[in-house]
Amino acid sequence: MGPPGAGKGTQAKFVAERLLVPAISTGDIFRVNVSEGTELGVKAQGYMDAGEYVPDELTNLMVRNRIDEDDAGRGFLLDGYPRTLAQVEELDGMIRHTGHALDAVVVLTVDSEELVQRLLERAKSEGRADDTEDVVRRRQEVYEEQTAPLIDVYRERDLLIEVDGMGDVDEVTQRIFDALSGVTES
Ligand code: ADP
Repeated sequence: MGPPGAGKGTQAKFVAERLLVPAISTGDIFRVNVSEGTELGVKAQGYMDAGEYVPDELTNLMVRNRIDEDDAGRGFLLDGYPRTLAQVEELDGMIRHTGHALDAVVVLTVDSEELVQRLLERAKSEGRADDTEDVVRRRQEVYEEQTAPLIDVYRERDLLIEVDGMGDVDEVTQRIFDALSGVTES
């Protein structure tokens, strides 16, 4: 977890490689669907371009289908899901059904000034439609309103691992590995 620009996607790839599990990014899956013009993509695009969350029913169904695939059988890392309290409950139900359990919830913390800088940089290099200044601001608000409360939920469940997301990519990766050592072995 972490606000837009915290480095979730970047770090998720390294962590998933290390743990030999797939990194499942809801944002990436939506973007592929948008670019391929699928029915899901058509439904999701307006929300994404406005910086709003895609409705839970669509997002939940997509995640449910994805974690049912063979490569997720021995575990998976979710990037960008759950993002709402309803998604938390839905995920609980999904993994109860597949026999998985959550090992840890990693949250990356980054200063808000740094976040805006990173997203504006990314806008230049990747040209994502939702990286314009207004939409970036809206995405930060939506995160604060709808997703930040999940941090307390997972803290109460004793699953939360807070990692400082400031500094070089490699440094942050190392912090995550250190924080996860032990947790993921059990
Ligand atoms: P970021 O982490 O930079 O905000 P993502 O690539 O994770 O961006 O997601 C991009 C967009 O995809 C979100 O702004 C939202 O519209 C949609 N999205 C991704 N994950 C979810 C989710 N779990 N629930 C609802 N919408 C989502």
